[in-house]
Amino acid sequence: MPISAYLHIPFCRRRCYYCDFPISVLGDKTNTNQSGSIVEYAQFLCEEIKITPTCHLPLETVFFGGGTPSLLPPRYLEKILLTLDEHFGIDANAEISIEMDPGTFTLEQLHDYKKLGVNRFSVGVQSFNDKLLEKCGRFHRLKDIEQTINFIYQTNIKNFSLDLISGLPYQTLETWELSLEQAITINPSHISCYDLVLEPVTAFGKQYKPGNFPLPDDEDTSKMYKITQQKLTKAGYEHYEISNYAKLGYQCRHNLFYWENKPYYGFGMGAASYTNNQRFTRPKTRKTYYEWVKQLKLSGYVISASNLSRVDILLETLMLGLRLKKGINLSEISNRFEKDIIEKIYQTLIPYHQAELVYFKNINDNFITEINNNSWQSIHRIMLSDPDGFLLSNTILASLFDKLESIV
Ligand code: SF4
Repeated sequence: MPISAYLHIPFCRRRCYYCDFPISVLGDKTNTNQSGSIVEYAQFLCEEIKITPTCHLPLETVFFGGGTPSLLPPRYLEKILLTLDEHFGIDANAEISIEMDPGTFTLEQLHDYKKLGVNRFSVGVQSFNDKLLEKCGRFHRLKDIEQTINFIYQTNIKNFSLDLISGLPYQTLETWELSLEQAITINPSHISCYDLVLEPVTAFGKQYKPGNFPLPDDEDTSKMYKITQQKLTKAGYEHYEISNYAKLGYQCRHNLFYWENKPYYGFGMGAASYTNNQRFTRPKTRKTYYEWVKQLKLSGYVISASNLSRVDILLETLMLGLRLKKGINLSEISNRFEKDIIEKIYQTLIPYHQAELVYFKNINDNFITEINNNSWQSIHRIMLSDPDGFLLSNTILASLFDKLESIV
């Protein structure tokens, strides 16, 4: 059963030009303290929590994502946390994270979140360059980022992350390097660096073509990835996941559950959950979500989702696990699948191992350098090399999928 919960808070001031998330735009001026939409949403979210089957295992991680959860007045966050605690229980040492966007909350609000038990803050900086922020349609500017960081210092928060995006239109290697340096100077415990993905339905997707100006070309985005790896590891951050860096002891526990392909609850409009061997995504507008919650209550919690097949589980485990620096525990996979699957994984990865894009480790955590036809029997872990293997992860996964889809 899951011990992890994701709560989607869909409200945003504006829709950023690269974003295809399920959100509700409030506009720049709405007073969130008096917003009827927020009151109603919090009620339905709590309703969904209350009708979800539980085996009363206390939650070890809770993640408020969005959207812009920092638009949520603390009294609603309190209500949601109380509902979770009453229904599932929240472990005393739980990681409770919230995503926050600069310019969307006050110092007092941050104090309140902290008092309510939130102990990890993830700030959507995206860039330290006003021109790039404007080109992305972001609500905030550099002055808002500076204010946010001052709030964080004043509240003595140590466990906070900064999110940055590389590959933005008009971004150069120089502006990217500068953003990284500014992030390092702030000294967060965690930094996430995501490469821009052009989703067809977004303003960017309609306006730009991958690799064409004003987007950086493939060569420059690869360089950005390598610069990130060099600069952040040199500054004392561990590159523990393909897009994530953390100081010792500050990896995001909630996201680790995803990458380790563990089950999790999801609540709210558009939220995905992974429970009872089923992945399920909730309706993506507030109206359809509210209707769905009402029906769910009437039906006694009947969700129409199909069980994941064995091949789905295997491929997802590989896809998610290879994002992690520690890679995948093959012994765990061999407990769930036939031995010849492990051999096929090994054979597919041999050329990548020879190209130093993939590493193999034995049970004693030592690298296996000399390999032969039978080496697969002694492999305990597989992992991608950093940064070259991570950069080619899509190609490596495509080879694995090709090989495994037909045989599982
Ligand atoms: S603030 Fe985040 S969730 Fe909201 S529109 Fe921008 S990128 Fe999307």
